[in-house]
Amino acid sequence: MRFIDFHVHTSASDGSLSPGEVVAEAAKANLAAIGITDHDTMEGIFGARTAGKKLNVEIIPGIEFSTHFKRNEIHVLGYFCQEDNTSLRKTIDRLRSDRYDRMKKMVYKLNKLGIRITFDEVMTEVQGQAIGRPHLARVLCEKGYCKTLGEAFAKYIGFQSPAYVQRKEFRPVEAIGIIRGAGGVPVLAHPGTYEKVDFLPSLLRAGLMGIEVFHPRNNIRISYRFLKIALKCGLLITGGSDYHGDKNGEGTQLGAVKMDPFFLEEIKRLSRQLKKQKVRS
Ligand code: AMP
Ligand code: ZN
Ligand code: FE
Ligand code: FE
Repeated sequence: MRFIDFHVHTSASDGSLSPGEVVAEAAKANLAAIGITDHDTMEGIFGARTAGKKLNVEIIPGIEFSTHFKRNEIHVLGYFCQEDNTSLRKTIDRLRSDRYDRMKKMVYKLNKLGIRITFDEVMTEVQGQAIGRPHLARVLCEKGYCKTLGEAFAKYIGFQSPAYVQRKEFRPVEAIGIIRGAGGVPVLAHPGTYEKVDFLPSLLRAGLMGIEVFHPRNNIRISYRFLKIALKCGLLITGGSDYHGDKNGEGTQLGAVKMDPFFLEEIKRLSRQLKKQKVRS
């Protein structure tokens, strides 16, 4: 039996492997399908599909939006969005330029702290559109300011660390609206990483359709708790490894979370329903 990993990053955002390389890894791990869920971009999907056709790995198109609620960062996954949707495109463009401006500010703050790095050095790490803190962390490590990416986050660029800069406000309900507007299925990512989930009722009202019940950062209690919520609210269940490649990220293995193909059929069914509703309205 071949399984599915619904949450995977590539070098289109802050993963260390190209889409083609990620798909090759997926084939080696005998996965039937993977969700390409890069931060704030869908540009890795094309390359992943090309490789996927050759290697018999199905590509589930996705995106992972970073949003804010009361100064907490909430991630919202969107599956099967229509990539050419105008509001989605506009949102992606806006987020890309926000990420760019924010990185400039972070480099400036680091310079003020006496750390000698430049914006151009960070850019040499970036292969796609979504410039992020892991790219900056890699430069900090290469230049000897820290030994691991975790240390870079803890000392300099993590939330509440001295060179942290928050991105422009983007609310989870807004992200849900954009995803649904593009015919996509919105799913709350890794609920185990949030201190409180007081935002959940508003997300449900906005049309949240699923919860990532299985994720390396959801312990068994969290998974159980959100499984019950998903069943009670009639939400879809997903799960994924949040793989970022071997060199960086949170250090999980591809396929560390494996889901039954049944769940892919479910998400496809919902996305077809949404698209039909859109045609009718
Ligand atoms: P950004 O999107 O620029 O705010 O960066 C957030 C990303 O950094 C997350 O999605 C993770 O991939 C990564 N990240 C966050 N915290 C850590 C950490 N402590 N160690 C390594 N990577 C991290
Ligand atoms: Zn990431
Ligand atoms: Fe995330
Ligand atoms: Fe992720």
